[in-house]
Amino acid sequence: MIRENLTRIRKRIVSACAKAGRNPQEITIVAVSKGRTLEQIKEAITEGITDIGENRVQEALPKYNAQRKTPACPVGRQNAQPINWHMVGHLQTNKAKEAVKLFDLIQSVDSLRLAEEISSQAAKIGKVQDVLIEIKTSPEATKFGLKPDEAIEAIKQMAECKNINLKGLMTIAPIVDNPEKTRPYFRMLRELRDKINDVRYAICDMQILSMGMTDDFEIAIEEGANMARLGRAIFEG
Ligand SMILES: *Cc1c(COP(=O)(O)O)cnc(C)c1O
Repeated sequence: MIRENLTRIRKRIVSACAKAGRNPQEITIVAVSKGRTLEQIKEAITEGITDIGENRVQEALPKYNAQRKTPACPVGRQNAQPINWHMVGHLQTNKAKEAVKLFDLIQSVDSLRLAEEISSQAAKIGKVQDVLIEIKTSPEATKFGLKPDEAIEAIKQMAECKNINLKGLMTIAPIVDNPEKTRPYFRMLRELRDKINDVRYAICDMQILSMGMTDDFEIAIEEGANMARLGRAIFEG
C-alpha cells in the first residue's frame, strides 16, 4: 500500500510542478509518522523516503533508536542511507535538550525563548541545529506559530543565536472544504520568506518552505513549497 501511495503522490507532485513550471526534484517529502509503527516507517524508507517527521520527542526516540540499529535499505540499493529526522509538532522548552540530540531539522520553532533554548542546548553538544520558524498564517489552524506581523522582528533576534541555523519557514493551513482555499496562506508564507531574504533587511538566507499536507500539498507546491509533510497520503489506503 505504501508503495502504491508513494507512486501516486510522486505523480501528483510532478503534475503540480508542471502546472507551476517547477522542477519536482526541488520537493522533499517528509513522511509524518506519528502514530505509525516502525514497520511502516521502514517500508516507506524502502520505497525511497529519506525524511521522517514526528510530532513528539517521546514517540520519536524509540523509533529513531530502532531505525539506527537496523536501518532500512531502499529498493535497488545495497546500503541503507542516512535518514533525516524532523520535529514537526509543538516543542516545549523543557524538551529542547532531547530534541537537539535527535532531530536534524526542528520545524516548529515558534518563540524567541524556544530558539534561545535550542541554541543553548545545541551548544552543549557542539551542534548547530537546523530549524524552521513556524508561522501562524491562519488564526484557526493551530495554536502555535509566530504571527506574520511579528515574525520579522522575532527572526532578527533569533538570527543572533549562535547555535541555530535558520533554514526557512513552516506553516499549517486551516482545514477547509476546498483545498483551493488554502492558497492565500501558502502565498503569505512564501511572501514572508522572500521578504526575510530581501537583501535590504539582511536578516538571513532562508530557502525552505515547509507547507502542504495530505489535503493541500498540490496547492502548496504551486505556491512554492519545497517540503511537503505527508502522513495519511503515505500511510493510509
Ligand atoms: C500530522 C501532521 C502532518 C501530516 O498530516 P496529514 O494530513 O496526515 O498529511 C503534517 N504536519 C504536521 C505538523 C502534522 O502534525
